[in-house]
Amino acid sequence: MASNIYAYVTKSPTSGNGLFAKKEVGGGELIVKLARPMIAALDYSRLEDTCANCYASKTASSIRNREYGKAGEQFFKLSACTGCKVVKYCGKVRDKRRVRFSIHGLTDRTKKCQSRAWKRHHKVNCKLFNRIPTRLLSNAVRAILQIRAMEALGTLEEHWHAFAGLESHAEQFSGQHRKYWNETEQVLSLLDQFTQEEMQIRGMAKQDLHGRVLTNSLTLVTAVFDPIGICLDPLVAASNHSCEPNAAIVMDGPELSMRSLRRIAKDEEIFIAYVDTTNPFSYRQQELSSRYFFDCSCRKCRTGSELEMEKDRNKAAVQAAGLEKLKQAKKAGAAEAVTKLEDGLKMCFECGAIGLTEQPYAALRHSLMVNLISSGKYDVGFMQGIKMYCHVEPGIFDESFHPVRVARNWVLLRLICALLADYRYREYMSELMARSGVDFAIVVYHMFQDVVDAVDKSHGRESSLAKSIGEEFEATLDTLDARDAGMKAAYSAARAAQFSKLEQLANTVEM
Ligand SMILES: [Zn+2]
Ligand SMILES: [Zn+2]
Ligand SMILES: [Zn+2]
Repeated sequence: MASNIYAYVTKSPTSGNGLFAKKEVGGGELIVKLARPMIAALDYSRLEDTCANCYASKTASSIRNREYGKAGEQFFKLSACTGCKVVKYCGKVRDKRRVRFSIHGLTDRTKKCQSRAWKRHHKVNCKLFNRIPTRLLSNAVRAILQIRAMEALGTLEEHWHAFAGLESHAEQFSGQHRKYWNETEQVLSLLDQFTQEEMQIRGMAKQDLHGRVLTNSLTLVTAVFDPIGICLDPLVAASNHSCEPNAAIVMDGPELSMRSLRRIAKDEEIFIAYVDTTNPFSYRQQELSSRYFFDCSCRKCRTGSELEMEKDRNKAAVQAAGLEKLKQAKKAGAAEAVTKLEDGLKMCFECGAIGLTEQPYAALRHSLMVNLISSGKYDVGFMQGIKMYCHVEPGIFDESFHPVRVARNWVLLRLICALLADYRYREYMSELMARSGVDFAIVVYHMFQDVVDAVDKSHGRESSLAKSIGEEFEATLDTLDARDAGMKAAYSAARAAQFSKLEQLANTVEM
């Protein structure tokens, strides 16, 4: 797991330090690959079902990458650390014969995630985890404890200079997010009582450690962007934000990559997006200033602020209400979330002034699809997915290989394949195909080809996502009877007509 770094940190003309390209890269190429970020901590809710070293998850979900899905359960089991019973690690492969068919990453697991994490930091923290109630140890606190452990184990040195150079914003945080800040400070003081020393690292006070973690961490995600925690690496954290980023971060287990979204010249600054750039101007600004304490002055923000329709007060009110529904849905269980999201979607639809690709319309639909699937309503979720695929995503993502777009298309593709293979949906699918004229064998074939091409750029050919997509495509070719040249030609000839029928089908989805 070697690191590749084609970027360097230096003063940015826009703000503070920035990350710059060491060489010219085209769109969809690797800029930085790290075997793992300096620190990463799982969300409290993920500690139960996710390996704290390689982030393989036992949570079964029909839409997840196979590695994280039901099939994965046969490959490994999670065991709690016997010392603290807080973190879990994946263990030995139960059935060695399965190794041959395994996906990338499994070999890593057999090398004992527990001992790797133990050596990296857990050796120092296990006792603390044992004595303090787990719910108090938020992911930020556990991240800070990792830094402290690295110092104790002598592995902090290589990161320290870059880490210390990051912004802390501790004062602004404590002012603007007082309740959260104070709670965490109390937990950190509690830890001081256990360790019987005031926490500081190389003279950096705990408030500044805390501020740096909050300001500079990214969401730790799976390869298909399920959020599972936070992570921080000083090199990646040096990259500034733009609402028109030229690079994106993807994860592959613990491996973190930054990949280009378009051509970047040598010595050009590399920008990633800290927030959802599809949100309206005022929401982006609000989010950036409350969480990262700056006002964005990227090209999109400079030219876009007046163009956006927020002058339309009715529209702005509906957008605000829709975003509120989205927030509520995030905190709710799947079934309740579906109701809230459908309400939000209805408001956007009835407003008439919000386009399908505008927010919060698009985000509500995506979240609805995910929650419909989580609550077992596969057919309804599938129709929303088709609508997103045809009418929303092409307008949101400029690049066909945008990693989020690729992940979403993959999720949809897996859902379609699952529906086609499930006898409970046989009648539904054949009725749908007869009614719409869509031949899903042809659609699936082309969606697979598109996703196979795009994932090499979005996640990299060596990523486990690219490998599992490639494997599934191979397996599906047999099912689709699409191996010989004659069939392939017939499938290709039918592409345009089939996708136009698919679009018509998508149009039948109300709202
Ligand atoms: Zn593991
Ligand atoms: Zn432990
Ligand atoms: Zn901006």
